[in-house]
This record gives sequence, structure tokens and C-alpha cells, in this order.
Amino acid sequence: MKIHEYQARQLLAEAGVPVPPAEVASTAEEALAAYGRLGGRVVVKAQVSAGGRGKAGFVRLCDDADQVREAAEFMLTHRMVSRQTGPAGVAVRKLLLAAAMDIAGEYYVGMTVDRARRCPVVMVSREGGVEIEEVAARNPEAIVKEWLHPHLGLLPFQIRRLTQALGLTAKEQVQAATRTLAGLADLFLSYDATLAEINPLVITSEGRLLALDAKVTFDDNGLFRHPTIMAMADTSEENPDEIRARAAGLSYIALDGNIGCVVNGAGLAMATMDLIKLHGGEPANFLDVGGSVTTEGAIEAFRIILADPKVKGVLVNIFGGIAKCDLIAEALIAAAREVGFHVPVVVRLEGTNVERARQLLNDAQVSGLLTAEDLTDAAQKVCAAV
Ligand code: GDP
Ligand code: MG
Repeated sequence: MKIHEYQARQLLAEAGVPVPPAEVASTAEEALAAYGRLGGRVVVKAQVSAGGRGKAGFVRLCDDADQVREAAEFMLTHRMVSRQTGPAGVAVRKLLLAAAMDIAGEYYVGMTVDRARRCPVVMVSREGGVEIEEVAARNPEAIVKEWLHPHLGLLPFQIRRLTQALGLTAKEQVQAATRTLAGLADLFLSYDATLAEINPLVITSEGRLLALDAKVTFDDNGLFRHPTIMAMADTSEENPDEIRARAAGLSYIALDGNIGCVVNGAGLAMATMDLIKLHGGEPANFLDVGGSVTTEGAIEAFRIILADPKVKGVLVNIFGGIAKCDLIAEALIAAAREVGFHVPVVVRLEGTNVERARQLLNDAQVSGLLTAEDLTDAAQKVCAAV
């Protein structure tokens, strides 16, 4: 789960990381009021979970009330398009107004899980501010890493190494960097985060060290332990079909292609998508109906996929193990009755209760339904049909 910058800043502040004073606004009027209270130059920032806001013009320094109004009105009425959003962009519903800092240097500090080493890693770089992915690709030595034991946390000697790597020597800066690194690690570990980033961490012209931007992502499987984090969820940026599918207990991810997929098991769903691509098609979604799917859950899956105007054909690929083929067949028949198959639906069923499933489909005489011999046959048929 992702949270917005203003929420991440609040968590960082609670963990002892120095952050500039800031307020949240949802209208231009609220932004002006916040500007009045902050006093002085501010930075107005769109609160969307995608990065690259600076380059997209959705982080703006404002010297007076007119500029604040203009920036707020622009951001609240334009979708932000950046490298991370896709061409449609995202709508902006909230703004952060933060006291603007005079920046003398920008650094990067981040923490994530190193899957290869199976432990958390803290990364720092003196080349902060710009897209860190570019630094990693162009000049990987500019990123210094410390791996830590999940139960021991970030140890003092590691903090000293990282602070040194940032080139900090002045006492106040070393102390602030120590609080920042310890706070970041604390936040990451105590809330089951998968990513916690400060980019940029800045040195101001007066020599103060402050976190100006923050991004935190949490492990969905750990959320039940953190009700305060769960309460921060903002579903307004999510795909409505994904929210609907989640409510029905389905693992669904919308994609850009035109072949809808109904599959049981994440691995089989991936293999199905590979086969579709191999035969020249493009999947419209990833969907794992799961092993314990009910008829109602499976019907909901068909409803979601068939309501997607991009979908020009559907591939149903079920290997009945725990999931029963006849249950899927019943759901198919019910979905056909309810919404009708306006696009070809190719079905490949194998495994538990497959005979009964085939019988059910045969008896029902569903129009638009094509049966397949095996997975390759199914993929070829659906690709040919679209
Ligand atoms: P991002 O582009 O979505 O990562 O948004 P950031 O919050 O990181 O802002 C992008 C850039 O705006 C930063 O790298 C800074 O250069 C600049 N910026 C952000 N806040 C301030 C500020 O208080 N003062 C100044 N001078 N620049 C800022
Ligand atoms: Mg940033």
C-alpha cells in the first residue's frame, strides 16, 4: 500500500526525522490560508503517489499569495502526467504546502528489502534530488549501501559509515543525519514497509539538514498489524475494477491489452499471459480467481472483465485442483445468462470434475463460447478470435 507524501512526512516526523513545517489543503482557499499561517516563501506540492512531480510542474515554489493561488488552482484542475503515471495521468485532490528551504545540497536516503540478500538495505547517495533510478543506472558507485539484520536494526557503526558516505562532517549535520537514518530504519521496520525514501534530503544554505520529500510503501500482508497505516489508504487513485475485484477476494490487475483472462493460480495466470503473448495477443488483465473461489466470486470475475470495453475476447484457463471445474462452468453459464457473451470466450478446463463441467457447458449451449483442447489451442483460438 502506498501513502501520500504528507502522510509519510508525518510518520517521519514521529520517528524523529527533521522535516520542514507543512500543511495540507484541498482547495485554493485552504492553500491561501495555509500560506498565511506558514508565513514566507512556500512550496506547493501535488499529493499523488506517483513520483516525478517536480519535472511535471507539480512542485512549485511560491513567493506570494497570487502565486500560491495560481499554483493551487492549476494543480487541482489538471491531471499530472509523469514518467510514472502513464499517458492518462492522475487527478490531484490534495496539496501540501511546506515552508520553502534554500537548498545548498540534495541527497538521497532510502530503505528497501534486498530480496537477493534476504534482508533490508539502507542506501544513500550524494546525488539526490533527480531520479535516483538514473543515478543507479549511470553511476552505481554513487549509491552506498548497508545491509542490516532485521532483528538488530541499523547499528551505530552503519549509521556512521552512511553519514560519512554523504560527506557530512559538521557536528549538527552528523547528528541530524543520525536521527534521520535511525528514524527511517525504525519507521521501515516497525510498520513492515517495503520502501521508505527521502529524496531529497537537503542541506539548507544555513547548514540545516531536512527531509523535503518522502515516499513510503507498506507490505499489504503486514497491514493487519497496523490499523493506523490502514486508515491512511486513499482508494481514489486506484483502478475501480481492482477495488471491486479485491472485495470479491480476487487477485486482479488491469493491463493494457484486449484479451481478458480468468485463471486459477498466480503461476498459471502468468503462464497464460505468456502464452497469449507468444501467440501474438496482449492480455487485458491478470486475474487469479484463487483456489477457494465461490460461484458468486467467479461470476463477479466475468462481470468485471466483460464490462471492460477494451476486452475483445476472453480466455478461461482453469486447472481444477482445489478449484472445481464444474463450479467455473456454472459461473460461466450464469455470467452468460446475466451479461451475455458479446465477445468470444475460449474455455480450457482440466482437472477436478472436468467431465461434469464439460457436460454442463454442452447442455447449456452458451453462444459465444468456444472450447479448447489444451492451453496452446486455447491461446491460439483466443488470439485468432480477437
Ligand atoms: P518529486 O519530483 O515528486 O520527487 O518531488 P520533490 O518533493 O522531491 O521535489 C522536486 C524538487 O523540487 C526537489 O528535488 C527540489 O529541487 C525542489 N524543491 C522541493 N522543495 C523545495 C524547497 O523547499 N525549496 C527549494 N528551493 N526547492 C524545493
Ligand atoms: Mg523527490
